[in-house]
Amino acid sequence: MAEKEEARVGVFICHCGTNIAGSIDIMDAVEYAKTIPNVAYADQYQYMCSTPGQGKIVEAIKEHNLTGIVVAACSPRLHEPTFRVATKEGGLNPFRFEMANIREQNSWVHMHDKESATAKAKDAIKIAVAKAALLEDLIPKSVPVEHAALVVGAGVGGIQASLDLASAGIKTYLIEKWPTVGGRMSQLDKTFPTLDCSQCILTPKMVDVGRHPNIELMTYCEIEKVEGYIGNFDITIRKKARGVLSPDEATARGIVGGGCNGCGDCAEVCPVIKPNPFEMGMAPRKAIYIYHAQVMPLLYTVDFDACVKCGLCVDACGDKKAIDLEMEDEFITLKIGTAIIATGYNLMPIENKREWGYKQFDNVITGLEFERLICASGPTGGHLIRPSDGETPKSVGFILCAGSRDNTGNGKPYCSRFCCMYSLKHAHQIMEKIPGTKVYLFYMDIRSFGKMYEEFYYRIQSEGAKFIRGRVANVLEDPQTRNLYVRAEDTLLGRPVEVECDLVVLAAAVQPVDEEDVIRKHFGVSKSQDGWMLEAHPKLNPCGTTTAGVFLAGVCQGPKDIPDTVAQAEGAASAASIPIHIGQVELEPYFAQCMEELCAGCGMCIDLCPYQALALVDRSDGSGRKVMSVTEAKCKGCGTCGGFCPGGAIKMQHFTSPQIHAQIDAFLCGGEQ
Ligand code: FAD
Ligand code: SF4
Ligand code: SF4
Ligand code: SF4
Ligand code: SF4
Ligand code: SF4
Ligand code: SF4
Repeated sequence: MAEKEEARVGVFICHCGTNIAGSIDIMDAVEYAKTIPNVAYADQYQYMCSTPGQGKIVEAIKEHNLTGIVVAACSPRLHEPTFRVATKEGGLNPFRFEMANIREQNSWVHMHDKESATAKAKDAIKIAVAKAALLEDLIPKSVPVEHAALVVGAGVGGIQASLDLASAGIKTYLIEKWPTVGGRMSQLDKTFPTLDCSQCILTPKMVDVGRHPNIELMTYCEIEKVEGYIGNFDITIRKKARGVLSPDEATARGIVGGGCNGCGDCAEVCPVIKPNPFEMGMAPRKAIYIYHAQVMPLLYTVDFDACVKCGLCVDACGDKKAIDLEMEDEFITLKIGTAIIATGYNLMPIENKREWGYKQFDNVITGLEFERLICASGPTGGHLIRPSDGETPKSVGFILCAGSRDNTGNGKPYCSRFCCMYSLKHAHQIMEKIPGTKVYLFYMDIRSFGKMYEEFYYRIQSEGAKFIRGRVANVLEDPQTRNLYVRAEDTLLGRPVEVECDLVVLAAAVQPVDEEDVIRKHFGVSKSQDGWMLEAHPKLNPCGTTTAGVFLAGVCQGPKDIPDTVAQAEGAASAASIPIHIGQVELEPYFAQCMEELCAGCGMCIDLCPYQALALVDRSDGSGRKVMSVTEAKCKGCGTCGGFCPGGAIKMQHFTSPQIHAQIDAFLCGGEQ
């Protein structure tokens, strides 16, 4: 074949110190590489990614007139971009580069068998050379980036990300499905380990997002549709009918001086009572309501599922004319360049773990219910009571890892990461508010990993909390006294224990809020084995996703406390702002190409594409017949359509059929055709 005769491949084998050289005979591999068909030059170096290592590539391309480069080293995820730059500096198209992973997939896993590891390295190099000999010049596509960003979810993560983006001069749309911003943090009383009031530190940020000139706050809204690609996402938002006009909306309708001022007269007269989800159902709200006093925006909302349309609220509102009981959902379209998902978490339905009695016994509550009960603005004004009789508890048991670190199939295998610390906080709050109360923490391990967290743990120990190491088997109730009996094994004493408590608090596992994967699928984001949204790389790109231009912040990516959520949100905002500030992005040219002459226009590949990159269009020959067209900017090069097309009409750039066949041949028959 013509390409093979002309190909002149350079091979460079990296020692990576002893990471590779300790398990693979580098010199033997170099001598072998020189014998591979199409190899014009082979060399080795201690650290190929270093400046001298890259310099070797640049020089060799020029001196040996190379047409393709192979570096046998670590994973392409780590250094492919580095070596592409070197390849380009040598004068070649940067996509004439192929990497053979002989570290992660070889030396690190075969470190005790040098002979086999060296043989495997030779195979990997031979396969990479087979492809490098057939590589073609590829030109990345540049697309302009819209100077606007979207943040989905207005918990502390989404709030922080929006403030950072907006302060960097970027128009930011903050979408929240609740009628107010704040997320879970606004439900907390105090925050560990400093014990500062959660609302006091959050409210200024809530106010800031409401006021910032670059932020368009869209509460009580949800994402309906996402189309497009990095730089050019088209987002359709469903603005749910709120039934109440803001002052601006009232002005737009010609109601001068009208709109909701938050006076609350409507809720006073409303006859319909519902449980308030913000208070974890422990306090009522009306069918026209606000969640709590510090809501942002201060705007009432009609719950149309509960409202009986009696009209009493309309009369109470009077001249402000803020209530419109006939309001309907609206659809708004936005154009944005990048997006951040910050949709947070829910508690797992802990009643599924029947052994702990949640929803069977009134005096078993969750940590979030505890937060509302102990909070001065909560349903009891901050008086901790046991729900069965309103009495002050004299002994409280905390069950940690409730549903977390649980491989039974009826829980979550992961650690929920903040429940050790908030249980310690709860223990402190009880001992401070109700001196003399006995506090028991049933734990497996105490994970107090953050700054000043271990010190906080010692403090709670010294305040008198009792720590019992062992997983709780079950909780039983005495139906007369409504007291609870917590049964566990104390693994430190090596015997079973039974502790009588007035109140039991479950540190319930957390799970993604997006259980139906709606948001995840809208943005084409993958999920990890444990259900959280998957970051692009756990260490090197923890805010990115596999969808270019889409980033993650906060607990939606995995359990984390407020400091870590804020830190990740700042990272996500920074990453999301880069393409916007540059104004254009280069897309990897690994997209599918349809070869018109081979395409039958059957359309069967359209639904297979996970990124909606395919559509039938009219043929260029004017025959009126259809042919497949690829929107290159949307295509992620996944290869699904290429593998499927019965006519072989799809060419996958950089992964063409001849290239893959050559690799298979090289492995199975040593490259001879
Ligand atoms: P969230 O607070 O969950 O916010 C996510 C937001 O996204 C919500 O407003 C939600 O309505 C919105 N949303 C979800 N889906 C959509 C959608 N499809 N469209 C639009 N909006 C959507 N951490 C500490 O550091 N200190 C503490 O003392 C502490 N105490 C805690 C006590 C308890 C009982 C619990 C359970 C947690 C505690 N935490 C504490 C952890 C803290 O709650 C989290 O770290 C923090 O809330 C994470 O913020 P977030 O923005 O990622 O998510
Ligand atoms: Fe190590 Fe990869 Fe650098 Fe070689 S190129 S030294 S394998 S990190
Ligand atoms: Fe808003 Fe009117 Fe209700 Fe007052 S009475 S809170 S202005 S809707
Ligand atoms: Fe309540 Fe609906 Fe009647 Fe208004 S119309 S008072 S929201 S039930
Ligand atoms: Fe268990 Fe503590 Fe992890 Fe929560 S943070 S799952 S209580 S170990
Ligand atoms: Fe059919 Fe293949 Fe053409 Fe798709 S590319 S329409 S599967 S022939
Ligand atoms: Fe869609 Fe994947 Fe084909 Fe690209 S390669 S058009 S993303 S199926």
